[in-house]
Amino acid sequence: MCVAEDQANIDSYKFHHIDTSKCVQCQDFSCEEACFRGIYEVINKQTTPKCIVVQDREDRCVKCHICTTTCKYRAITID
Ligand code: SF4
Ligand code: SF4
Repeated sequence: MCVAEDQANIDSYKFHHIDTSKCVQCQDFSCEEACFRGIYEVINKQTTPKCIVVQDREDRCVKCHICTTTCKYRAITID
């Protein structure tokens, strides 16, 4: 078995990609507040936080990049 490369665990949607291995250490969940389009939801906040793109909302994205800037762990990338 090979060791996972830098332990990245990327959840890919249509054009959002979230390294959820970084969300585990998150405490402010700033992506949720930052996106005025309501695209993100952080689940398991009390245990193992994980940012997800809310179903059927991805196309609301205007690619303003507020979310990629505000996430201090740089977990989010947008194509
Ligand atoms: S995407 Fe960034 S801000 Fe959102 S939960 Fe993950 S690490 Fe935290
Ligand atoms: S780029 Fe803007 S609209 Fe798209 S998910 Fe990020 S904050 Fe929301």
